[in-house]
Amino acid sequence: MIIRSGGCLCGNVKYSVKGPPLRVGLCHCAVCRKESGSAFVTFAVWPAHSFETAGEIAIFGGRGFCRSCGSRLFNPQDGEVEVRLGSLDMAPTDLAPTYEIWVKRRETWLHPLAGLEQFEEDRGE
Ligand SMILES: [Zn+2]
Ligand SMILES: [Zn+2]
Repeated sequence: MIIRSGGCLCGNVKYSVKGPPLRVGLCHCAVCRKESGSAFVTFAVWPAHSFETAGEIAIFGGRGFCRSCGSRLFNPQDGEVEVRLGSLDMAPTDLAPTYEIWVKRRETWLHPLAGLEQFEEDRGE
């Protein structure tokens, strides 16, 4: 089974995820923009039991950061962990999003990615 490793910029927090993610998405929402300082974020979600971490994180609004360097890492959620794709060690990853959410906030110079499911706001479960 494939094990992927990730961590923050300063190296204080490391984590690993086992096996395939449940889903991979891309978000253009206002909160993701603010937290990342970027125009959108890409994330992958694993079941909590496939996730392990060492190191202390700070959590703001359910979003986990490294206390020292401020890198965004992952959000521990109900039975799942949402990992920021850019915090994985290997690049490029072999993980590609299958859906985009909050596309009404997408920058005008960005285009819908071909073949991805598009949602004006949240995906809705
Ligand atoms: Zn750090
Ligand atoms: Zn978002």
